[in-house]
Amino acid sequence: MKKLIAIAFAAGLVLTSCEQKSQNFDLADAKQIKVAPVLIYGYDLNNYNVVEDTVRSGDIFNDLIGSHLVQGQSSYDAAVTMDSVYSLRKIQAGKPYKIIKHKDVAGTPAAFVYESSRTDYVLLKLTGKMEATTHQHPITIKRKTATGVIRSTLSEAMEEEGLGLSAIYELSDIYKWTIDFFKLQEGDKFKMIYQERYINDSIYAGVEAIDVAIFETGGKPYYAFGYVTDSIAGKRDYYDDQGKTLRNFFLKAPVNYTRISSRYSGNRFHPVQKRWKAHRGTDYAAGYGTPIVSTANGVITKSGFTRGNGNYVKVRHSATYETQYLHMTKRLVKVGQRVKQGETIGTVGSTGLATGPHVCYRFWVNGVQVDPYKQNLPSAEPLPKDQLVVFKNYIEPLRKEIDDLPYKDSDAIL
Ligand SMILES: [Zn+2]
Repeated sequence: MKKLIAIAFAAGLVLTSCEQKSQNFDLADAKQIKVAPVLIYGYDLNNYNVVEDTVRSGDIFNDLIGSHLVQGQSSYDAAVTMDSVYSLRKIQAGKPYKIIKHKDVAGTPAAFVYESSRTDYVLLKLTGKMEATTHQHPITIKRKTATGVIRSTLSEAMEEEGLGLSAIYELSDIYKWTIDFFKLQEGDKFKMIYQERYINDSIYAGVEAIDVAIFETGGKPYYAFGYVTDSIAGKRDYYDDQGKTLRNFFLKAPVNYTRISSRYSGNRFHPVQKRWKAHRGTDYAAGYGTPIVSTANGVITKSGFTRGNGNYVKVRHSATYETQYLHMTKRLVKVGQRVKQGETIGTVGSTGLATGPHVCYRFWVNGVQVDPYKQNLPSAEPLPKDQLVVFKNYIEPLRKEIDDLPYKDSDAIL
């Protein structure tokens, strides 16, 4: 997933992002309101003060609350009540807590609040009968749009108008089977409509989902529609405008490479042996130690060393397909072991007949070595036929929305 980030810096990616406008608050209406309530943890700050502090190392619960209690309130009762919903042993140093106090002379405590995480808090009511409850800050989802064009230099617009990194990760993840981010060209571009999570309407908490995206590379558009195929199992995946999955049985490459140093060929001049012979693999140059991943799920059938291959691993994916990875520094799998697509099986090296660090990636179909780039390789789990009509109806308005979304002037290639 880091690929797109790398290319963003290498090729220069202009990103712009804009939030879809929410309804404007009318000032004339504001004057009608006497005192707008400002709620925090359900308490109106017009009537309460908040004392903020942080749990220090070695603090016990009494250290947090004891000095704030008034006559008739016992820190023992407070501790027992709190512990009934949230174990006091889980209170950690460095976490924030708050005492909410009445705006009276004595500053009578109304509640104690412990922030157990960015989204969760425990509230101990101190007025009347003590009562403890756990809560979650409300999460709001904001729908946003973003557009970008690849150009030769990095624009500062990326940071200034910036698209969150998590959105970039999400986008590169969707397209990792269909687009080779290391072969992007100047002028390649994308648009996306996506949802972001916010805590209390203000604190950014990552990308919820991408509704629709389009990535244009080499003049060819690739649509990606997020679609729930099984709402009970919560299965959501990305499909193109024809309902074909964007996931493939095989990844595009076994390594995050810097360049393809040699392609599959019937005849090439061997750089070590200094003679013409077939090269039945694709060489991906990458730094020593770069993880090499299995391009599909499978079982390890070979993990060994030969003079030519160096350290190498072979994987059987199905009755039809096998792949092999050569010249590793380290092999990280054993024969018989099951591996998942994208799982690291070794690291890049130059063992065997190799002039520099690279992976020689080899591919077999029914026992015959072939160039995987010339094969019509299978896609994973296509959309079931009975869902296709529903899918097409679902994507129609989204497709119009993304087609109509304009690239900004600032996206233009300078
Ligand atoms: Zn090779």
